[in-house]
Amino acid sequence: MRVLVTVVTLFFLGVQAQSEWSYTEPGLVESIWSKEYPDCGGLKQSPINLQTKKVKHSRSLKPLTFTGYGEEYLEFPMTNNGHTVQITLPPSMQMTDSEGIVYKANQLHMHWGGAFLELSGSEHTINGIRRVIEIHIVHFNSKYRTYEEAKSQANGLSVLAILIEVDEFAENTYYTPITSQLINIQYPGQTTTLTNIKIQDLFPGDIRYYFTYNGSLTTPPCTENVKWFLFRDTVKLSKAQVLKIETSLRNHHNQTLQNIYRQIQPLNHRAVEANFPPFAGKCTPDSGVSNILASPC
Ligand SMILES: [Zn+2]
Repeated sequence: MRVLVTVVTLFFLGVQAQSEWSYTEPGLVESIWSKEYPDCGGLKQSPINLQTKKVKHSRSLKPLTFTGYGEEYLEFPMTNNGHTVQITLPPSMQMTDSEGIVYKANQLHMHWGGAFLELSGSEHTINGIRRVIEIHIVHFNSKYRTYEEAKSQANGLSVLAILIEVDEFAENTYYTPITSQLINIQYPGQTTTLTNIKIQDLFPGDIRYYFTYNGSLTTPPCTENVKWFLFRDTVKLSKAQVLKIETSLRNHHNQTLQNIYRQIQPLNHRAVEANFPPFAGKCTPDSGVSNILASPC
């Protein structure tokens, strides 16, 4: 009997270990995600490099609108899920896109680097430049009742991405509730409660401008049903805040959670649109103005 129990236990442990994805050893590493999650090998994967000279400027794209994001006095569970820090958001937070599609918020998480000094870890790159951190706010299309229902459906999801840059000594106090509490969720499975935070305060100052394209989740199962929105403007955090994010959490193998970003995926003829002209119109063909400082355009 004991032998049988051991064999059964080993079998289940084996199955579990096999399907536990990761970016680097041990685990199901990024290069072989598609063996267990076929969508990860698809043709509309994320993240991508946004090449501004190839982005289509679409004047018909209106700014995104947000309701419930400015709500004060809400409490948010913040968890170390073994892959990143994740903040659970209520469906009362809603984002409406240019076409009038309403998306309800589900969760916010981050991607970062940090394995070597000064190593950045955003997922999307702009003209090949990787920023230090990338925030993802995952939403589901309100035509579905729940995230669980929407996550495998066509047009089911939308992710809003925010890129973060370092401003050496300037502490961004809007982010302090998050950075100061990471120490309480050092180990996978630990959860704390975020208070005194407004999610809208985590946004860049100017949220009118964004890039958009159709892609996928950047982690398994890499489902290709995600409408991406990436704010043009970045958010600044101090060096100390970035360091805290890069060094506070551990994974299931008791390693520091670092370099938790996926490699750039092929664009494969997808269109990337933006609702702003490249470099504020300083050197667009129709403006007729060229500005050497605004290169490359
Ligand atoms: Zn993400």
